Amino acid sequence: MRVVVVGTGYVGLVSGACFADFGHHVTCVDKDEAKIASLQRGEIPIFEPDLDRVVQTNAREGRLVFTTDLAGPVGEADVVFIAVGTPSRRGDGHADLSYVYAASREIAKSVQGFTVIITKSTVPVGTGDEVERIIEQVNPSADVAVASNPEFLREGAAVRDFKHPDRIVVGTENPRARKVIGEIYRPLYLNQAPIMYTGRRTAELIKYAANAFLATKITFINEIADLAEKVGADVQEIARGIGLDNRIGSKFLHAGPGYGGSCFPKDTRALIKTAQDYDVPLRILEAVNSVNDTRKRAMARKVAAPFGGNLRGKTVAVLGLTFKPNTDDMREAPSIPLITALRDLGATVRAFDPVGMEQARLEMPDIEYHENAYSCAEGADALVIVTEWEQFRALDLDRLKQEMAAPVVIDLRNVYNPDDLTGRGFLYQSVGRQTKAAG
Ligand code: NAD
Repeated sequence: MRVVVVGTGYVGLVSGACFADFGHHVTCVDKDEAKIASLQRGEIPIFEPDLDRVVQTNAREGRLVFTTDLAGPVGEADVVFIAVGTPSRRGDGHADLSYVYAASREIAKSVQGFTVIITKSTVPVGTGDEVERIIEQVNPSADVAVASNPEFLREGAAVRDFKHPDRIVVGTENPRARKVIGEIYRPLYLNQAPIMYTGRRTAELIKYAANAFLATKITFINEIADLAEKVGADVQEIARGIGLDNRIGSKFLHAGPGYGGSCFPKDTRALIKTAQDYDVPLRILEAVNSVNDTRKRAMARKVAAPFGGNLRGKTVAVLGLTFKPNTDDMREAPSIPLITALRDLGATVRAFDPVGMEQARLEMPDIEYHENAYSCAEGADALVIVTEWEQFRALDLDRLKQEMAAPVVIDLRNVYNPDDLTGRGFLYQSVGRQTKAAG
């Protein structure tokens, strides 16, 4: 099968590389010349575990090629995936579909023979109809079927998720398209991944409903954490206590600084907007969105609490900047509003992240960046754990204490056992658990 993936970002590159690994011939197209040039040299422009191996093996074996030229490969393709970005539109929170529509226009000009065009980007319900309309308008004789195949991979575990999905959702009413898409994913359902065929609009909405539900679950446990803190309960035990109930499930019940990243914030906003357009307001989701927005800055007040709410003259060391571990993605990372709020409260902020600092520098050029956790902690009045990178779970606590001006740790991911910290003389605060005095 000849596959073209338009948009070679986190989703396009992982999908393209994995489809090549299944044995298809894949061309990954991007308009970013620097990105394509680095991929052609065998360099991976993003940090994603295992991706380099999959890309390099398939490129070497000639199944995976990278180009900025869309027309040639699309003309020969059986299937074209659209995997361009759908960021929040400035001002109103709707999904910005300009990249999807621009890609559709370009694809329309070059298709030859029956071609299945598939939106893998997360797109609002009805986008497939518009893509179909654009293609028809640009190239009335094009023989295409437009389908939706939303992607559910998680950054940080993207290759694994792509190859072992919980399910594959295919939205199309066209039997020829179903057959072609079924063929593309055949190696996966040989491995028992359920493939679910739905209408196109249903598939588009499944993706948003999934992300909205997960964002809701996180926000729910975050609010329960705030209550637990006030009433002398422990949110970790509450999460376990409810998560063991099969109807609830234990995932996405980790209290923290609020969700961020390239998907949940923009997708919840876009779904709220779509629903408003159809006059069906999603009030639960509206609350989730606003609770989460407020939470990120509120975490700065938590850091300031041991200092009477004022951080003037204090140095705060931040460990972890990316929105989650094992990625370099800084999009809507909770660290950004948190650091802004810490600085508003008067703090000097310094930071360390194992792989995210290059991206972080673009967002926050004027904080101090350090090469490791200990140099970051040197002379700091407080240390805040914002992203739960594995290496932050096993810090040398005695060394950390020696480096710091004051032994204050604010753990926004609950990675430490409070007794381990207080036993060593730290003042330790976490989320939804009791503050322990240095003991
Ligand atoms: P990204 O920003 O990393 O990549 C998008 C790429 O598309 C960029 O490299 C850009 O240069 C390229 N592009 C834009 N217009 C183009 C055009 N006309 N021709 C060729 N290339 C073009 O985005 P991403 O994180 O990979 O997300 C892509 C889509 O997948 C979004 O809709 C997102 O919501 C969805 N998604 C993302 C994730 C995730 O974890 N990142 C997971 C599931 C779904």
